[in-house]
Amino acid sequence: MHELSLVSSIVDTVTEALLPYPGARVKEVRLRIGALAAVEEESLQFCFGMATEETPLAGSKLVVRKVPVVVHCTHCGQTKELPSLQSFRCPECGELTYEVLQGREMEIEDIEIDDGK
Ligand SMILES: [Zn+2]
Repeated sequence: MHELSLVSSIVDTVTEALLPYPGARVKEVRLRIGALAAVEEESLQFCFGMATEETPLAGSKLVVRKVPVVVHCTHCGQTKELPSLQSFRCPECGELTYEVLQGREMEIEDIEIDDGK
């Protein structure tokens, strides 16, 4: 349950971020998830609903922004978005590329709270 452990760490982080705002409710949590992070959004949403019960995140919305994989090709020097995860060849020159610049992310981008004001 990769998604469940991800969700628990989100709940921990957000709960901690809310400490200076007693009574605040979370409206929305926005995540950035790279295509290589192998997170299933459906399962993530399900776990989020479960794991946030009776926390300040209860009833909040989880918004997932998927980030494509971007590689830097050391062969031709191009930085490109990978069109498919099936192949790690440079879309430009066809050489194998291993330098992943983006696509492994699993991070909270933003949290929207309602502090009752
Ligand atoms: Zn290349």
